Amino acid sequence: MKKIGLFGGTFDPIHNGHLIIAEYLRVELDLEEIWFIPARIHPLKNNTDITSAEDRLNMLKLAIDGDQHFRIDDLELRREGISYTIDTIDALHENYRHLSPEFYFFIGMDNVNELHQWKEPKQILTKSKVVAFGRPGFTPHEKAKEFLPYIRFVHVPLLEISSTFVRKRIREGLSVRYIIADSVFKYIQEKQLYR
Ligand code: ATP
Repeated sequence: MKKIGLFGGTFDPIHNGHLIIAEYLRVELDLEEIWFIPARIHPLKNNTDITSAEDRLNMLKLAIDGDQHFRIDDLELRREGISYTIDTIDALHENYRHLSPEFYFFIGMDNVNELHQWKEPKQILTKSKVVAFGRPGFTPHEKAKEFLPYIRFVHVPLLEISSTFVRKRIREGLSVRYIIADSVFKYIQEKQLYR
């Protein structure tokens, strides 16, 4: 059985907070690999200003380049319509049946609080092991309570950064060095993203 961590997100752009979480959980949960799964259309985000799938994917590739434990599955980008996690987990079980995978689905506390709005959250909890970690500024809401017994919480050393924060700093011409990978920053400059 292969133990695989699944890290979904918009990754617009991927930042070092994402990478720290992924690496920390890999070690903590003794996972063989972490698969980053960029969303095509996030069910609960305003997707009007989102960077193209191609650019987000290219930045992900640059950020994880050379890490033997990290890989990307672009199945949500290739799938039409809204990127529902339950559809992704079903598809991954189907596509990787030969590995007998055990999927660990990562969610931050911000997502735990939105779980009740997701498509078929109970199915997600049944078909994967949901692993949650804190996020500065977020504590569990009342509406998340019914799911908490089925979620494993892991303490991850945290940074108060987000892709929104990165985009804002770039727009304002402020440094994002050490917040995102240098290669990703170079790409952003070349493509003039987030201006
Ligand atoms: P945005 O600011 O554009 O909403 P984001 O930084 O939240 O983006 P996503 O691509 O949505 O990034 O990341 C996927 C998930 O990673 C988030 O929903 C959140 O749960 C988690 N995450 C990202 N950054 C952090 C952080 N600094 N601390 C804890 N969790 C984080």
